[in-house]
Amino acid sequence: MDSITLIARAKINLYLEILGDRSDGYHELAMILQSIDLADEVEVRNLSTDRILIRCSHPQVPTDESNIAYKAVELMVKEFNRGFALHGGVEIIINKRIPVAAGLAGGSTNAAAVLMGIDLLWNLGLTIQELEELGATLGSDVPFCFAGGTAIATGRGEQLSPLPSLDTIYIVLAKYRSLEVSTPIAYKTYRSRFGSSYVKEKNSLVERAAAVHSGEIVKAILHKDVKAIASKMYNDLEKVVLPEYPQVLQLREMFAGLDGVLGTMMSGSGPSVFAICENKEQAEAVKLRVRTAIPDDDLELFVTQMIGHGIQVKKNLV
Ligand code: ATP
Repeated sequence: MDSITLIARAKINLYLEILGDRSDGYHELAMILQSIDLADEVEVRNLSTDRILIRCSHPQVPTDESNIAYKAVELMVKEFNRGFALHGGVEIIINKRIPVAAGLAGGSTNAAAVLMGIDLLWNLGLTIQELEELGATLGSDVPFCFAGGTAIATGRGEQLSPLPSLDTIYIVLAKYRSLEVSTPIAYKTYRSRFGSSYVKEKNSLVERAAAVHSGEIVKAILHKDVKAIASKMYNDLEKVVLPEYPQVLQLREMFAGLDGVLGTMMSGSGPSVFAICENKEQAEAVKLRVRTAIPDDDLELFVTQMIGHGIQVKKNLV
């Protein structure tokens, strides 16, 4: 096998609570992550040279060593030098559909696809758990992207507890192309404004993280009660991102006022905003209403759905 193409799905946050600081400089989080059908295609090809090449047509995505897909290849070369010696370098071709710097884990899911693709191309036989552990060294959102679905994520986001998956729940996703929110800056701003209320005691942190497992939104997920899920969504980062980005706030308010929308939230550090809708027809109608109200080419709108899995190998149709 010389090449493999993977479907690398985006995620949204149904819940994001910032609990406190960690000694490694990250935040202690309690999140609920959800895969969505919006995906990039990531092709991983064997090269006959020992180089690492990245190709991506999206103007905001770098193709040098700073691309997280490049870092994923470097990690595999370092960890599995025998595979590299046998098979040589790789070329990664990213067909980007997931909006960039949007709070949708676009880069993280590309990195996960690269790790899985190289595992398959080099016949390494890694388990999902081993891939997740490798992924955690590249970024906190990477481990979730492999199996995807619906999961509670604690720690810095890498400690996962799967929940029964939600699928065929339709959402409308909105993102201004030209708006980017830096995840580290959003968290830094949050710390400067709300750091004094952080949980300081180790035991209290453990208790708070555990409390999410029996929280209202988890109960709603277990009952597959879409209305309750939509009404219990939460994101601490809205407190710092919405006041800074009036266009994001406007989208959030517009979604909240539309018929057929059960609930709306910013995903991760934004600036993408999503609305959970009653069904596909309602989602299409909501998208049309937002498009009519904001006829700005800079605004990307997608109708997509929650999905019960993460990365998949793309099957050739021949
Ligand atoms: P997360 O939700 O994991 O914080 P995000 O969706 O907010 O991620 P990304 O789309 O991953 O953000 O992009 C963040 C930054 O990383 C961008 O500024 C982009 O230039 C850079 N980047 C590096 N590699 C990639 C990649 N493969 N895909 C997208 N962006 C990448």
